[in-house]
Amino acid sequence: MTEVLIVGGGVVGMGLGMMLARDAHTVTIVERDAQPIPKDPEEAWDNWERRGVNQFRLPHLFMARYREILEEDLPDVAAAIGRDGAVRSNPVLGAPESITGGPRPGDARYDILSGRRAMVERAVASVAEGTPGLEVRRGVAVAGLLGGSEAIGGVPHVTGVRTSDGDEVRADLVIDCGGRRSALPDWLEALGARRPHDEVDDSGFIYFGRHFRSRYGQLPVALGPGLQPYGSISALMLPCDNDTWAVTLVARSGDRALFGLKDVASWERTVRALPTVAHWLDGDPIEDRIVTIAKIEDRHRDLHPDGVPVATGVVAVADAWACTNPSLGRGASIGMLHAQALRDTLRRTGPDDPAALGEAFATATEATVEPWYRTTLSFDRHRLAEMSAIAEGAIYDPGDPAYEMTKALAFAAPRDPDAFRAFLDIAFVLELPEVALARPGLFEKVVAHGAAWRDEPVFGPDRAALLALANA
Ligand SMILES: Cc1cc2nc3c(=O)[nH]c(=O)nc-3n(C[C@H](O)[C@H](O)[C@H](O)COP(=O)(O)OP(=O)(O)OC[C@H]3O[C@@H](n4cnc5c(N)ncnc54)[C@H](O)[C@@H]3O)c2cc1C
Repeated sequence: MTEVLIVGGGVVGMGLGMMLARDAHTVTIVERDAQPIPKDPEEAWDNWERRGVNQFRLPHLFMARYREILEEDLPDVAAAIGRDGAVRSNPVLGAPESITGGPRPGDARYDILSGRRAMVERAVASVAEGTPGLEVRRGVAVAGLLGGSEAIGGVPHVTGVRTSDGDEVRADLVIDCGGRRSALPDWLEALGARRPHDEVDDSGFIYFGRHFRSRYGQLPVALGPGLQPYGSISALMLPCDNDTWAVTLVARSGDRALFGLKDVASWERTVRALPTVAHWLDGDPIEDRIVTIAKIEDRHRDLHPDGVPVATGVVAVADAWACTNPSLGRGASIGMLHAQALRDTLRRTGPDDPAALGEAFATATEATVEPWYRTTLSFDRHRLAEMSAIAEGAIYDPGDPAYEMTKALAFAAPRDPDAFRAFLDIAFVLELPEVALARPGLFEKVVAHGAAWRDEPVFGPDRAALLALANA
């Protein structure tokens, strides 16, 4: 049994806390935001102040991998999310036979749960707070780390945290789940440790989102995938809980010419001009403005630069470790995969040897979640460069086979049932591209059905029309 302290009670911090408490560890979660858990999803949507999570009001989709992990490890959380109104959907079961080739064994793995972030987080937090062995302290911020005798000569060892109200909380292991703005490097430096190695891509996207509620209890019909590129913008349509859904336009954060999309009328006019998206406006908006978020970096934090830990007794999980641009909706899935990796590492290597634990977790991170970070980063970089080229009237042709394959697979997906499933396996964080694309015969199918992806007609507005719509 280990005394564990988790910094941050977001979707992954709470999920990891439950996993560890159920493995008989004693878990304390310290969460800066003070407000208690709202009584139901609507109160969470209307009144829950979550200043610690910038993206709290932005649309979220919880991919099949997230659902799968919950159903395997935290089935009561999956049930609570369902009870609170999440939509369970499956794009294979919902698509015509001409695309799917008919049902196949294993298609249930494409089930996704979707709901507003506030609703999902409330359900997760409610189950966490009733979990034996797990204590959540709300309204307390971690302000720094406590040190103790070194496990490796010259490498500081963390033995707990100092909180904003001056308390010292000791623990065998401190886990940073403080999200993408985690202050861990500063805390480590203050303890005399080296700073971790941060790799940051300063490019980014800007999101313009709005939630709606159905007038008749029906969600709009999806005419294509949830994320659809329309030249220099993308459109993201997500079903949510309790007859709600979200529509988001995604642009390059450097593309200031599109900032007119912050205006409700310009945003609506632009969405109406996207043929497969326009009907998602046919509901009642439940926000009186367009919610925007920008400056979202892809950031990767290495606590073992050059193979030597910056400190022992502390690890970083989920967004605190690495966060990607969110348009692929992978953050919670990658975060919970990382949580599983830590839980499993602790099962194999207890906390008695902090150096071995840190090294084993670094190895597990590299094997399980690092490849997902890298593939998502590669997608983001290409999409940003592609948006930029389109805005300048150029053709984006990086000569990268991975980019060509991604585009060809997306084009082949509605034309071949195997390509369709491989596309979903990758999109839903079920299988890495190199695994899904290595299936016998798949490469040939993607080439046969997807090689012409550059010829796909674009039905939306061209760049000049887009600028006019966004700025009229
Ligand atoms: C615009 C946007 C849209 C996204 N959409 C999706 C999506 O569709 N699907 C998906 O899977 N992912 C999505 N993500 C990513 C997802 O939100 C994150 O991956 C996920 O929230 C990570 O969970 P976490 O628990 O690691 O961190 P967070 O949820 O960010 O929680 C961090 C917590 O730590 C607390 N905290 C921070 N510092 C301290 C401190 N010093 N002391 C105490 N507490 C502290 C904060 O208050 C917060 O509660 C999106 C992200 C963004 C930005």
